[in-house]
Parts: sequence; structure tokens; C-alpha cells
Amino acid sequence: MKPLELCPFCGGADLKFTDLKFDHQQTRLTHVVCTMCQSLGPGVEMTGDQELDETAAIVMWNRRAGTPTDPAPPPELVPKDLDKN
Ligand SMILES: [Zn+2]
Repeated sequence: MKPLELCPFCGGADLKFTDLKFDHQQTRLTHVVCTMCQSLGPGVEMTGDQELDETAAIVMWNRRAGTPTDPAPPPELVPKDLDKN
């Protein structure tokens, strides 16, 4: 499994996975959450009985956090409709 980057907001390393389920939908969202500042990473959508996709959640979290060798893009370069499907 890929290592998680530190929290981009507080630098915390105490990160865990949370699986949010919506009763009115057939989908669940897996997030990485920082237990220090409660920051929630981007959600990875799953349907039905699909297994918790921690790897995808890690990729999303790390992309958001950015790293010295792979920094997050500046806000003006991120498409504004990125979160809409
Ligand atoms: Zn944090």
C-alpha cells in the first residue's frame, strides 16, 4: 500500500480511513481523514458491496497534499469543475 503524505493543513501523521454511506444513495465515499484537525481528503466513490478502496483514497489524499518532488498545482491551474461529475 502506498504511504500517506502528512496532513497538508496541520502536518499531522495520524491519518485514518473513513467510509461514509448515504442511505438515499447506492454509493459510499471513502476518505482519508486527519484525526488531528479533522481535515477530510477527497472522496473515492464506491457502489454496492465494493471493497473499501483505500489505495485510491491514498492517491487522492497524496495528490491533494502535494510533495516536494510532485507539488500540487497552483489553484489557477486546477479546473474549476474538477469535483463535478
Ligand atoms: Zn491535519
